[in-house]
Amino acid sequence: MDLPYAEPYKIKVVEPIYRSSRDEREIWIKEARYNLFNLRSDRVFIDLLTDSGTGAMSHYQWSEMMLGDESYAGSLSFHKLKDTIEEILGMPYFLPTHQGRAAENVLFSALIKAGDMVPGNSHFDTTKGHIEFRRARAIDCTIDEACNTHEYHPFKGNIDLEKLEAVFQKYPKEKIPLCIITVTCNTSGGQPVSMQNIREVSALCKKYGIMCVFDAARFAENAYFIKTREKDYEDKTIREIVREMFSYVDGATMSSKKDAIVNIGGFIALRDKAIFDKASVFNIMYEGYLTYGGLAGRDLGALAQGLKEGTGFDYLEARIGQVAYLGKKLRDLGIPIQEPTGGHAVFVDAKKFLPNVPREEYQAQTLAIELYIESGVRGVEIGTLLADRNPLTRQNRYPKLELLRLAIPRRVYTNNHMDYIVAALGNIWQRREKITKGFKIVSEAPIMRHFTVELERV
Ligand SMILES: *Cc1c(COP(=O)(O)O)cnc(C)c1O
Repeated sequence: MDLPYAEPYKIKVVEPIYRSSRDEREIWIKEARYNLFNLRSDRVFIDLLTDSGTGAMSHYQWSEMMLGDESYAGSLSFHKLKDTIEEILGMPYFLPTHQGRAAENVLFSALIKAGDMVPGNSHFDTTKGHIEFRRARAIDCTIDEACNTHEYHPFKGNIDLEKLEAVFQKYPKEKIPLCIITVTCNTSGGQPVSMQNIREVSALCKKYGIMCVFDAARFAENAYFIKTREKDYEDKTIREIVREMFSYVDGATMSSKKDAIVNIGGFIALRDKAIFDKASVFNIMYEGYLTYGGLAGRDLGALAQGLKEGTGFDYLEARIGQVAYLGKKLRDLGIPIQEPTGGHAVFVDAKKFLPNVPREEYQAQTLAIELYIESGVRGVEIGTLLADRNPLTRQNRYPKLELLRLAIPRRVYTNNHMDYIVAALGNIWQRREKITKGFKIVSEAPIMRHFTVELERV
């Protein structure tokens, strides 16, 4: 018998979590105006709101917290991180930042101006925000298969080369400062990009003289999918695959709260000295001096160690295996999910799950609230509330998909927790026909309403 994977670590410290009653949760969620962001975290039993900054650090990472060198300039922790980035990503220049969006802010300040076009694959919200804030435009060139939840495609994060070339042909080179490849694609469900696609996008960028950059938040999970799904890569190590991936790009922005398994941190990695020099000016203004960039020395050390651990095969197999485990158990019950499951989350198709709830009454939010009341599990709506209103007509924008995202923190929960989530969703699935009413908005902010929106039952 083949031995199954098992987590390549054991648990040394535990954090108790409170298992509340259904009656308590009914009261708490009403008090929170049916917005899961308003819940105090001790009222949540299993928290799948996000995998960002919620991972568990290893004892080596905690040791780095103690070894942190807090010198203002030239800190040893900085050099530890610089050496690690050079070794793992093969990038000679880097700037630390306090998180991923800060890396975007600094790099884009150096590169993007009003009227520019920035093609890529389903740009992440903050990436798009930092592009649009500069009055430039993000153009999504993801392959069409990404929108079809039940169709299997091994690399749904891929960029459609024809769509990309059309952008390169339509606009002059001066208007396209960079092309962004998001690995893995968060917005479309943690879907990976193949090595072949990275290579081809890179070649096309070179042909048109355009800079190519990774949004690298989940680069290691992407490398795992290349190893396990792409021809000719099964015998390569994760580190070899990562080196090859980065060999095709000119730089990267990184949210270390994802694949570097730290609670805070980010960076920019670059190949070109001139761009590094330009970005350095903004880093000093917005983030801090070049050798700390808004982080403590101890954070830099933990990040360096996290990059090493996050690119280990056994770790990735257990991590992505757990996401796949949850997906399989839900699928076995007939629950509609985005196929295949991605690296960091399972997306439940709420439109198919609650067809009797009108679209105007927020199907995915209704499912998220049902799940919380049923079990104390907190997921997040990726649907109409998040899509917000059309800024001109003020009408709701209805996205193609109404999803409940269950994002799995790294090294935090066991498969018993996964089974608990499956049972809870299974119970709701059994009585889904009877759920016919959703929610209506009582108050909302003019922009990014999902964080603070207040709701009541219809
Ligand atoms: C999280 C994330 C970001 C932004 O990073 P923060 O650390 O949250 O600021 C950017 N891109 C992707 C793909 C992400 O997942």
